[in-house]
Amino acid sequence: DQEFAGLAAVVTGGASGIGLATATLLARRGARVACLDLVPEVPEPLIGVRADVADDDAVRAAVAEAATALGGLDILVNNAGIGARGTIEDNSDDEWRRLWEVNVLGMVRTTRAALPHLRASAHAAIVNTCSIAATAGLPDRALYSATKGAVLSLTRATAADLIHDGIRVTCVNPGTADTPWVARLLDAADDPAAERAALEARQPSGRLVSADEIAGAIAYLASPRSAATTGTDLAVDGGMQGL
Ligand code: NAD
Repeated sequence: DQEFAGLAAVVTGGASGIGLATATLLARRGARVACLDLVPEVPEPLIGVRADVADDDAVRAAVAEAATALGGLDILVNNAGIGARGTIEDNSDDEWRRLWEVNVLGMVRTTRAALPHLRASAHAAIVNTCSIAATAGLPDRALYSATKGAVLSLTRATAADLIHDGIRVTCVNPGTADTPWVARLLDAADDPAAERAALEARQPSGRLVSADEIAGAIAYLASPRSAATTGTDLAVDGGMQGL
């Protein structure tokens, strides 16, 4: 199914995990895709563009470079993000600022830079990678959850602002997903097998979500098929919030 034929997409954090799975799926369904990441190495036919979403000048240059290489821009997947453990007492102000810079301001910057291109598209869509952490009240994740709560609010407010420009804005809320991020988290645990079992048990489905399952949800929200959907979030969490 070539539902993205003729459309161009930028995926931030597109060199790993959910971002790479999404970029790969969009390309397989016909899109021209650039991955904006700290790591510019991505498999063909994806185009890698190096940028740190915490650096406004770098983001502007990278989005312009991607739009030129792709011949326009219709879809922006704001997916780059970093994690942090800790209760409200555990993280320094600098840690709070760093996570905010990447997880929230990073999306603001890429969206701002992409908007002139998206306004010229007849099928413009922005999909943000949020998290069940935005609303689930996860223990030991105060800072991370606060950034994702901001992503959810930003998604809704931006959807309201951009609807008259014909640009849809939505987000996905993944549960714990089997990505290099979670592999690193498990590697750092005292007992990785026990930690994995605990993460699996937290989701009613009894397993982790795959990056491909989240990519499928992002692709739906990015697709002209979901033209009547904006300002909403889609949970891909093994029933964690719904059941
Ligand atoms: P990952 O670590 O496998 O991939 C993240 C990618 O983002 C990497 O390629 C990394 O280089 C890039 N990146 C990080 N900081 C960047 C920056 N400053 N500028 C540009 N690129 C940067 O992680 P993942 O698990 O695929 O997570 C992707 C997104 O999904 C994140 O926003 C994360 O919060 C969200 N998420 C993940 C899970 C999970 O369980 N894995 C659950 C919910 C939400």
